[in-house]
Amino acid sequence: MFVGELTFPITQIKGVGKVTAADFASLGVEKACDLVTLFPRSYDDRTVMRSLKDMGDEGGTINTAVAITDHSHYMSKGQRVLKMTARDLNSGRTLHLHCFGRSFMENAYPVGTSWFINATVTKTGSVFSASAFTLGASEEAVGIGTILPVYPLSGSLTQKTVRKAVDTILSNRYMKFDDEIPERLRLAHDLMHMDEAVRQMHHPGSMGELEKARRTLAYTELLHLEVNLVRGRQERAPQDRTVVVSPLEKRLVSSLPFHLTKDQEKCLDEIRRDLDWSTMNRLLQGDVGSGKTLVAWIAALHMIAKGFQVAFMAPTELLARQHAEGAATLMEKLGVHVAFLTGDVKGRERGYLLDALKKGDIDLAIGTHALFSKDVVFKSLGLVIIDEQHRFGVEQRQALSHKGKKVHVLMMSATPIPRTLAMTVFGSMDISTIESMPEGRRPIVTHIVDERNRDRMYASIAVEFERGHQAYFVYPRIDDEGESDLKDVTTMYSFLQGKYPGIPSALIHSRLPEEEKIRILDDFRAKKLMYLVSTSVVEVGIDIPDATCMVIEHAERFGLAALHQLRGRVGRSSLQSYCFLVYYGSLTEEAKARLKVMRESTDGFMIAETDLKIRGPGEFIGNRQSGFLRLKVASLTDDVELMAQAKADAEEIVKDDRGLLRADNAMLRQLLG
Ligand code: ADP
Ligand code: MG
Repeated sequence: MFVGELTFPITQIKGVGKVTAADFASLGVEKACDLVTLFPRSYDDRTVMRSLKDMGDEGGTINTAVAITDHSHYMSKGQRVLKMTARDLNSGRTLHLHCFGRSFMENAYPVGTSWFINATVTKTGSVFSASAFTLGASEEAVGIGTILPVYPLSGSLTQKTVRKAVDTILSNRYMKFDDEIPERLRLAHDLMHMDEAVRQMHHPGSMGELEKARRTLAYTELLHLEVNLVRGRQERAPQDRTVVVSPLEKRLVSSLPFHLTKDQEKCLDEIRRDLDWSTMNRLLQGDVGSGKTLVAWIAALHMIAKGFQVAFMAPTELLARQHAEGAATLMEKLGVHVAFLTGDVKGRERGYLLDALKKGDIDLAIGTHALFSKDVVFKSLGLVIIDEQHRFGVEQRQALSHKGKKVHVLMMSATPIPRTLAMTVFGSMDISTIESMPEGRRPIVTHIVDERNRDRMYASIAVEFERGHQAYFVYPRIDDEGESDLKDVTTMYSFLQGKYPGIPSALIHSRLPEEEKIRILDDFRAKKLMYLVSTSVVEVGIDIPDATCMVIEHAERFGLAALHQLRGRVGRSSLQSYCFLVYYGSLTEEAKARLKVMRESTDGFMIAETDLKIRGPGEFIGNRQSGFLRLKVASLTDDVELMAQAKADAEEIVKDDRGLLRADNAMLRQLLG
């Protein structure tokens, strides 16, 4: 049978009553199969002898033999406590055993007797003592020689209850778990049978076998996930077909003051192949400033040249407008009709726009999610591009594709995505990656600044102003409506005006009216303003080539992804740029680690991997969507290689046998449906 077929409720297990069942339920354990897959969170390895000689100052557990040498008593909190003195037979050292509420031990373990012991020892000065310990007449009695499972607990559950419940199920001799991966893969990757793996997880024979069991279960879990993902994906566009680059695209490229990078070309080739020969569902990822937008415009032209309309969606009005202006500059001269649509476009203007979209007079519509409200009708929508979106819902995507007959979707990620997430969350999409930056970019120099030593920072920014370069000063937005944050930026703003008299600047925050924000950004782009003081509204997408300084106040409060995004607002041309991470007070270890990563690396892919390790997948994909990633055994941060293997195997399986009809894939069909 498969593990998942053990569906009887745990209340049928001897010794599991109502209260215990409720405690188990809060661990997500309701059926027998849940219990069998409630794997230990750690193990107590008693296979190696450890005596007091092996204890450092921090103490630890011992597995050894002792002789009881003395009994005495003392008073603690009004209670008479037995203290037994014991000599560790393996080191000759002395151990004090405090028997709180266990005075029966006086008779059970008389002076002069010897026992095996497992104990958690603390060391105070040169004195070893323990109050949590087990004494026994044999090694087995105290678990010496075994590796004990340590389970997650809840409510009144104890290790003993959980161990007993699990063992009761596993002790059924007639029950044997069937493999859940094809035999050829089990052999090829040197994995265990499922039955053995499950048992080894609960009662490992050795740490080596435990690792093999863990690998078996992790691989099984990942293979199932990947097979599902690969099956749900469109069939790949054939590699041997030719793609034709339209004159429209060529004219845009030749009008640019630079060449496309090799990676931009490679991504475009992948995209065009989809657009010509398949239905695209593709994620375009690349570090901040790597030039994703341009790739998107060229992809848009590819469809426009074929007579289709393209919709481009940005997360905020500000960004949508920036893109609309950029697109108009690049493409109107090629005869492409670009329109801008947000929720704020109302009345006659809106009516006119909607009409033009419906008639097909507009080729490229750029806007916010308002593009996909009900009243917006396209004549022939062929491609939807979604910018800077790292949190998106499946529903949203579906709403889009219903606006046309066969709509291609291109997503652009705001931040590089860790490999494991790319293989899982985004596994049903194809991925194009821009790995390298346009030529001539210099790595941003990052300084970590104690808030009390900010004067040097201000001095070096003043030098940048003299060179005609611009700066951002960012305050954290802790929540959208927080009065106190606003006060912070306002105070900061007048403080900076004192520091830089005569240098034009503006304060920008999320509660300003949209037109006001737009005006400020336009002035900043036109260099009528030299610096902006802001809450993190500048976080995504804003592209101002001459801005070379980014000051982030309270950097310790930002996550890595946000810091990297913010820093990415500078260093967008060949000018040398600087980022100052200003911190307040003393830093937690985690904050220190984060800032250190930021100082040492400008590689968004590496930063994203670290962020995943520190904060988990919810940060990247939204907590709501990260649910299906609650893998029981496999780890998103440690099992990268195993996941890549499972993905490759899944591709292979689906390529030859999409319906999982072959006999050796039969169990996958049964398990995955
Ligand atoms: P992101 O990937 O962060 O969205 P953008 O698309 O905004 O980055 O590009 C950042 C800047 O790089 C833009 O000013 C853009 O014009 C410029 N750029 C794009 N491609 C190239 C290239 N091949 N060579 C030089 N600059 C480029
Ligand atoms: Mg962008």
